[in-house]
Amino acid sequence: MYDQLKDSVTRRYFLESTTKFCCHVGLSTIFLACLAEESGNYKSTSNNETTGIAGADFEPAYLKLHKTGELKNRAEKLREMMESCRLCPKMCGVNRLRGEEGFCRSPGARLVVSSFMPHFGEERPLVGRGGSGTIFLTHCGLRCVFCQNWEISQLGRGSNRQEDDLAAMMLRLQSIGCHNINLVTPTHYSASILKALDIAAGGGLRLPVVYNTCGWERLEILELLDGVVDIYLPDFKFWDGEMSARLTAAGAEDYPEVTREAILEMHRQVGVAKPAERGIMQRGLMIRHLVMPNNAGGSGEIMEWIAEHLPEDTYVNIMAQYNPLYKAYDFPEISRRITRDEYQAVVRRAKQVGLTNLDIQTFWWLQR
Ligand code: SF4
Repeated sequence: MYDQLKDSVTRRYFLESTTKFCCHVGLSTIFLACLAEESGNYKSTSNNETTGIAGADFEPAYLKLHKTGELKNRAEKLREMMESCRLCPKMCGVNRLRGEEGFCRSPGARLVVSSFMPHFGEERPLVGRGGSGTIFLTHCGLRCVFCQNWEISQLGRGSNRQEDDLAAMMLRLQSIGCHNINLVTPTHYSASILKALDIAAGGGLRLPVVYNTCGWERLEILELLDGVVDIYLPDFKFWDGEMSARLTAAGAEDYPEVTREAILEMHRQVGVAKPAERGIMQRGLMIRHLVMPNNAGGSGEIMEWIAEHLPEDTYVNIMAQYNPLYKAYDFPEISRRITRDEYQAVVRRAKQVGLTNLDIQTFWWLQR
């Protein structure tokens, strides 16, 4: 089974995908590592050390559902929802099974993948030594005006793939030593993802699955992901509804409310994120908050809410890398990088309200 799947992700596609990503983010070392693997120099065996599985007793959440057939059923339920699509809070109601395109611009029920590769720029507990096995999915139902991946999310750069191709990518990432399968912007492809996971689990996939989302998720969908996802990695971008309506093409005034409910449900499912052996994360909730200029995200309130509604050791990554890309220059309040003072104020507030598990980034390069 695995050999069949492996063949469907060709060497050429893997190299093209990796090259595009590395050129995009300027990480030539990743490309060289992948190239080395392709040429047979990269150590890849089936034992736990080199496949990135942190412990021999680790079992990913989806394996149980795969064994009972429930994973396949859930994939089918999600697919049925595309008949009048309600996979994301935009709730377009288009018939994607007949090829109709909704607000996210996904081409009907087809799956479009931009790239897949070991990613060394994610959170340290996801990266470890082998990298986070990242799969970039195209299109997005929220579409922030400052999107850092706008060519993928807004222009839809990628290739049409089948679910068994996606399964093969997962197995490929496992075989080259990645520690997890990190699905970036998965919401509108959740049906295909679960189907691919079912195939990959049958082919030997044992890595934890990371659901790397903008946070704007419907509870009905999250309930179908209960027992499938090991690590939730949601953004919490905006505290204020007027601001989220202004800064997203979706006009998502309900973003703060929907995201708060979604994060509580994610925490209910997977709990606090605690690294396992060698500092590798296997399960839990990891929240990301991108600090924006002029406090456009409402950072202080977000930190206060997290401290009030979730355990104090909830993992919170306070991100400093905001860059005014895509249409950000059309919005004066977000048309610059953040300052060092703006970043430090958020970190201070997070500590004041009692959060203890903060991922604080280097910020010496920010202007005062
Ligand atoms: S996933 Fe796409 S088509 Fe479906 S509701 Fe969301 S934006 Fe609309």
